[in-house]
Amino acid sequence: MAPPLRSPPLGRVGGASAAIATLGLLIIAYGILVGARDFTRGSQALIGVPRTVDIPLALLFVVVALVVCRIFRDSLPGLELRAAREDEPAARAVGVDVHRRRLLAWTISAGIAAIAGVLLAHELGVYSPREFYFQITFAVLVMLIVGGMTSVSGAVAGAVVVTILIEVLRSVEEFINAAWFDEPTVFGLTDIGLSLAILGVLFWRRNGLFDYREIEDIVLRRRQDSGEPAVVAPVRVEPEGALEIRDVTRAFGGLRAVDGASLSLAPGEIVGLIGPNGSGKTTLLGCISGALECDGGTIVLDGADITAMPSHLIARRGVGRTFQNIRLFSNLSSLENVKTAVAAGSAGPGAAGMTQRCLALLRELGIAGYASRRAGTLAYGLQRRLEIARALALEPRYLLLDEPAAGMNKSESDELLAILARLRQARGPGMLVVDHDLSLIMRLCDRVIVLNKGQVIAEGTPEEVQSDTAVIEAYLGRRRTAERAAMLSTRRE
Ligand code: ADP
Ligand code: MG
Repeated sequence: MAPPLRSPPLGRVGGASAAIATLGLLIIAYGILVGARDFTRGSQALIGVPRTVDIPLALLFVVVALVVCRIFRDSLPGLELRAAREDEPAARAVGVDVHRRRLLAWTISAGIAAIAGVLLAHELGVYSPREFYFQITFAVLVMLIVGGMTSVSGAVAGAVVVTILIEVLRSVEEFINAAWFDEPTVFGLTDIGLSLAILGVLFWRRNGLFDYREIEDIVLRRRQDSGEPAVVAPVRVEPEGALEIRDVTRAFGGLRAVDGASLSLAPGEIVGLIGPNGSGKTTLLGCISGALECDGGTIVLDGADITAMPSHLIARRGVGRTFQNIRLFSNLSSLENVKTAVAAGSAGPGAAGMTQRCLALLRELGIAGYASRRAGTLAYGLQRRLEIARALALEPRYLLLDEPAAGMNKSESDELLAILARLRQARGPGMLVVDHDLSLIMRLCDRVIVLNKGQVIAEGTPEEVQSDTAVIEAYLGRRRTAERAAMLSTRRE
């Protein structure tokens, strides 16, 4: 979904575009400040700034800044932000308000940078626009790349290494120019050195010197195993209103991926959504969860219209989802994946015994033994389960599962079936399950809805749908309808 228009332009871009846009902002600000000569003396420096800052004071500020950064990184908003860095749509789907969290981080870092700038000027004794332009910005970027952008320890390591590198290269340059050559002057050695440092790091350690770790992870070889999870009873959801999808349409260019589809899901009901490839199942789930905007129609939850609601608010109202192509926060631990959803979701950060609850959830899905493992390193089937655990952390009243058994073998999908059946017993969420494994759908679901070319073409009990000729045709084509129909019905066993 396009973010709401009220979000600031820089908040709407991420990754490399954000960095480039920020550089653009720097150029604009520099241009204006240097251009507005009457107010700023243009590119001339403001001299005579009292030199009141010495090394101890600067160091004190460094320590305070680092403490602030570490507290923020380890806080729940920090966790939400790290999750959003890993996978933004997934973060929204568990209730993270990405723009708000980014704005918070941006404000804190801008505050720290501003204070640092003041201290620098009071150390140098001048305010010169040149001091705050490309060179220092470039150096800061290099520090982040070299040390690693994802940990405070990495940022510190980057700052130390790059500062030393710059000083050494500068002395070498001066030495060469003074001692060896009068002509031609050697210059640009620093920039060349920094560029080589970037290339070297990108080549050997793509995520920087510290990768995703903090210093204590390395020194203590810390693992986050928190012992046997306490027994926490699953929270049973209150059966409230239904989830109703009325005449929803969503087109991509000229293609109507979902074309006036209507269906409803009663509390606690498990509904299967099947249909040939490209029939619009995933798109429909995207519309319901707010990840995609609807072009027409309405979606009503508990009597409230949620059609135009951003996806993090829909998640907080108790609609959890998984993705067809697994979208975990790969570089966070399994526990942190689930924790993000508890922190951002409806259960709220105040929820007591958060870690215990998250571990209990992992155990419910049979993956408690992997709590401290990076999600991206889990086996495929376990990743699918972790995604379900993460969605459950929202205590959802409705769960949208997009091909949960895809890529699983028979025994894995049987296990999944048992888990889903248990979930329904213990927690009672309504579920909309998309899958190609018809035997799973037929055994799990109370009702089955069939989508074809974005339209609902059949709806009924598994038995009714299986014998529906329109369904068989849509699935298998006209030619061998009869023989395949026989096959389809034997698959139920
Ligand atoms: P299903 O999940 O039933 O296999 P999808 O909802 O993924 O089907 O896709 C429905 C149709 O919409 C397909 O024809 C697909 O190519 C198209 N489609 C899906 N997502 C996009 C997108 N982001 N951009 C363009 N076309 C898309
Ligand atoms: Mg799909």
